[in-house]
Amino acid sequence: MTVRAVKGMNDILPAEVGRWHHLEQHFRSMAEKHGYAEVRTPVVEPTGLFVRSIGEATDIVEKEMYSFERHGDALTLRPEGTAGAVRAYVEHHVHTQEPVTRWYYMGPMFRGERPARGRYRQFYQLGCEIYGDAGPAADAEMIDMLVQFFRSIGIADLEVLVNSLGGAQTRPRYREALREHLLPRRDLLSDDSKRRLDTNPLRILDSKDERDIAALDGAPSITEVLDGDDLAHWSQLQQDLDLLGTPYRKEPKLVRGLDYYTRTLFEIRTSAGEVGAQNAIGGGGRYDGLVQELGGPSVPAIGFALGVERILLAMPEPDVEPPFLCAIAPIGARAAGQALILARELRAGGLRVDVDTRGAAGASVKAMLRRANAIHARVCLVLGDSELDAGQVQIKDLAARTQTVVPRADVVQHVLSLQAQGGPSGGHA
Ligand code: AMP
Repeated sequence: MTVRAVKGMNDILPAEVGRWHHLEQHFRSMAEKHGYAEVRTPVVEPTGLFVRSIGEATDIVEKEMYSFERHGDALTLRPEGTAGAVRAYVEHHVHTQEPVTRWYYMGPMFRGERPARGRYRQFYQLGCEIYGDAGPAADAEMIDMLVQFFRSIGIADLEVLVNSLGGAQTRPRYREALREHLLPRRDLLSDDSKRRLDTNPLRILDSKDERDIAALDGAPSITEVLDGDDLAHWSQLQQDLDLLGTPYRKEPKLVRGLDYYTRTLFEIRTSAGEVGAQNAIGGGGRYDGLVQELGGPSVPAIGFALGVERILLAMPEPDVEPPFLCAIAPIGARAAGQALILARELRAGGLRVDVDTRGAAGASVKAMLRRANAIHARVCLVLGDSELDAGQVQIKDLAARTQTVVPRADVVQHVLSLQAQGGPSGGHA
């Protein structure tokens, strides 16, 4: 019986990993330029952490978590990164060490969703969190950073949706207003939304079901009922985004699937590349109450998460030169040993080296050269008994299709000078 990967969980093979590195390096560099430092938290957390933060009446907690029991503890594979980051922030009393904390993270998340293109059960997120700054300038900078980031990796076709969910004063009032609008239309709603009407009416706003969309016609919008500080925050955010020239569209129906959000909420969508129809590649928002909810001090916060697989579908092929690679083809066992020593010297000189160790057991030079071409080596050093006896190495330039014989002592210098000259890498097999 062959064993297959779990449905919705993918292998990322080396041929694709270059694109992942490109994206991760861009993200890391962008986050660090904006003062974020990386945090790494466990993939497994106590189940209660997610129930308390994400919220009981959310799709994630209701039906998507990978939960299990071990050693008497109820545990869950993290479905998102914010809850664990907040737990770590509280647990390590980070607020006593600095007034404002900027963290970023990258890693796998787990949700038992129905797998589809761009939707998996193990998927990767890149995220940022700011703790300790309640003002709308932090929100604007974060949204602007995302737009700059997507443009820098070649995704220019972006839609930035923003909304405000209000705060402690506004939200309960809006929830009631929405419920009042929907109660007389209860029978028109989908079954899910009938249930949400009692548990979490705001979630009905982002339902894709035609019946729910029709029932919402004429419903009050949350930004209409904002007042006081909630309204001031929302207005200032828009002014800041206008000042920065950040493109955005106000979307009063944007709620997103997590309960902990307050005030600013945003989502980035694109239909670039292979993503298909307009699809969310990231989103986030403010969660001013969550740190306290999880047992910490009253510290405001805001964050976002981006979906790596979806960004990779949207991202054009990065234009990167394949790195210079030096292959060594040893002929016979004695030469193979010497090839390993030579490789060590070349690597110490900063080169990437592939020794075809099959040569020790008699692989032919032809076979080894074919492989050197296939792995895009730029040069191949051929080393046999006659070269060893003469104290020389044969250097084949696979791009220029030329060859020279160089004294053993000069090999590292010679290959380094070929690397410095640049030029194309070797051909294909
Ligand atoms: P969320 O954590 O739900 O706010 O999602 C943030 C981003 O993560 C989304 O915009 C998606 O790009 C990505 N994402 C969420 N769920 C999945 C999934 N099941 N598979 C792949 N990407 C996902």
